[in-house]
Amino acid sequence: MMSPAAAFPADIAIVGGGASGVLLAALLIRKSALRVVLIERGSTPALGVAYSTQCRGHLLNVRASDMSALDDEPDHFAQWVARDGSGLGHNDFVPRADYGRYLKDLLADSVQRSEGRLRIVTGEVTAIREQAAGVEIDIDGHGDGHGPFLTRKAVLATGHRPPSVDSGAYRGNPWREDAIEDLAPDASILLIGTSLTMIDVLVSLMERGHTGPITALSRRGLVPRFHPPAPIPSPDVDTREFFAGSLSQRAARFRSTVRNGVGWAGLMQVLRPHNNELWHGLDLDQRRRFLRHLRPWWDIHRHRVAPHIGEIIEDAKARGQLSIVAAKIEIGHATDRTVDVTIVRRGSTVREQRHFDRVIDCRGPRNEVDERLPLHAQMTKDGLLRADPLGQGLDVAENEALIGRNGRASRNIYVLGPPTRGRYTEIVAIPDIRLQAAEVAEHLIEQLRQPSGLAVGPAA
Ligand SMILES: Cc1cc2nc3c(=O)[nH]c(=O)nc-3n(C[C@H](O)[C@H](O)[C@H](O)COP(=O)(O)OP(=O)(O)OC[C@H]3O[C@@H](n4cnc5c(N)ncnc54)[C@H](O)[C@@H]3O)c2cc1C
Repeated sequence: MMSPAAAFPADIAIVGGGASGVLLAALLIRKSALRVVLIERGSTPALGVAYSTQCRGHLLNVRASDMSALDDEPDHFAQWVARDGSGLGHNDFVPRADYGRYLKDLLADSVQRSEGRLRIVTGEVTAIREQAAGVEIDIDGHGDGHGPFLTRKAVLATGHRPPSVDSGAYRGNPWREDAIEDLAPDASILLIGTSLTMIDVLVSLMERGHTGPITALSRRGLVPRFHPPAPIPSPDVDTREFFAGSLSQRAARFRSTVRNGVGWAGLMQVLRPHNNELWHGLDLDQRRRFLRHLRPWWDIHRHRVAPHIGEIIEDAKARGQLSIVAAKIEIGHATDRTVDVTIVRRGSTVREQRHFDRVIDCRGPRNEVDERLPLHAQMTKDGLLRADPLGQGLDVAENEALIGRNGRASRNIYVLGPPTRGRYTEIVAIPDIRLQAAEVAEHLIEQLRQPSGLAVGPAA
C-alpha cells in the first residue's frame, strides 16, 4: 500500500524564493531528508527585493561577520567573502549585490546536496487550500499540466511589496531601475521617506552623477544613524530595567541611560537578543503607541548605515543638494513630466505648493494583508488567513503557524520572514530571519517525523 507521504509530490513547499525562502530551503536540505519545492514567480530565485540591486554603492547595513545565512555556521558568509577575493573582510559592509551572489551560491549548493530532493519551480502561487493531510497549491505558470500541486506543508515566504503604485512621474516602486531612469541630471526630485529606502535611491542618484536638487521628506525628518567603528563595547547595564513599567517609563529609562554616558549603539547591542521579549511584554495598546510615536526613533538607531553611506548623505547635505525636511505631504496632479505636491512643514500651517520632475515613494516595504493579491484574496475568502491585530502582516502563532479567521493556528501552513512582523516586529534583517528560519525548519522536521514511511534524519 502507498504510504500517505508518497501521495504528495513534496513534503514542504516554500512560497517565495527570496532570502527567507532560500535560507529555509538550505536548512531543510542540510538537516533532513525531506523533499522541498521552492516556488518563485520571478526569473532569478534567491535575490528577492533586497539583493537584486546591481548598484555597487548599495551596501549591506550589517557587517559581513553577522550576515551568515546559517544559524549554526556563523562564519559562513565571512568565509564566502574571503573566497570571493574582493579584499573585503568580516568587519566590512559588503555590496548587497555580492550578498545576492552568496544566496545564489547557497541555493545552487543546496540543490546539489539534495540529489533531487530540492526542486525550484517558476510561477506565482495564486491559491492555497488546506486538506486533511496536507495542502493543495495553484501555481500560475507551473507548466506540467497536472493541476494543483500537493504538498504536506507550505511555508509563505512571500516577503515585501513596494510602497505604492506608479502614476506618471510619481514612482511607487523605488526598487525598480526605472524609478530613476530617463531623468535629466539636473531634475528636481522629491523622495518621500527619510529612511533606508531613501538612502538607497540617493546613493543610486549620486552614482549616476545627478546634480539636481533632492528633497527627502518625512513627518519627523529622522535619518538613520551611522555605524560607529567596530567593535562596539557592550555596556554593563541590567537589561531587566527595560522590561518594567509603562512605555513612556521605559523610553525615559532608555534616554537617561544614554545621557548617563552609555553609548546608544552599545545599548542597542545588548538589548538586541531581548527585542522580541521586550515587544511581547507590551500590551496591544502599548505596541500601537510604540509604532506610532517611538518606532521612527527606534529604527534610526537600530537599523544603521555603513559609515561610507553616512559620508554620502553628509556630503550631499553640505553641498546644498540634499535637504531633509520634516513635513506632511499631499500628492496632487501627476503627469509624465511633473508632480504637484503640497507640503506642510512640521510646526507650521503654511501650505507650500511645489512641483517636482520626479517623486519617488521611499516609505519602505509593505507586508500587510492586501486582498488585491490573488493569494491573499483567496486565502482570506477561505478563512485561512487574517491580518495581525496591528495590521502589519499576517497573523501567526508563536511557532509561525498561520492563524485563520476562526483564530485557530494551521497545522500545515506556516509563515516566514517580514510578513510575521506583527508578532515579531524586528523580523526584517538577515540575523533575525536566519533564527526564525532555523526554528521553522526544526518545527517542520519534527512534525514530519510522524510515522509516514519517510526517513527524515540529516541528509548525508
Ligand atoms: C532594500 C532592502 C535592503 C535591505 N538591506 C539589508 C541589509 O543590508 N542587511 C540585512 O540583514 N537585511 C537587509 N534587508 C532586510 C532583509 O534582508 C530582507 O527583509 C529579506 O531579504 C527578506 O527576504 P524575503 O525573502 O522574506 O522577501 P523578498 O525579498 O521580498 O522575497 C520574497 C520573494 O517571494 C516571491 N513571491 C511573493 N509572492 C509570491 C507568490 N504568490 N508566488 C511566488 N513567489 C512569490 C517574490 O517574487 C520574491 O522573490 C533589506 C531589505 C530591503 C527591502
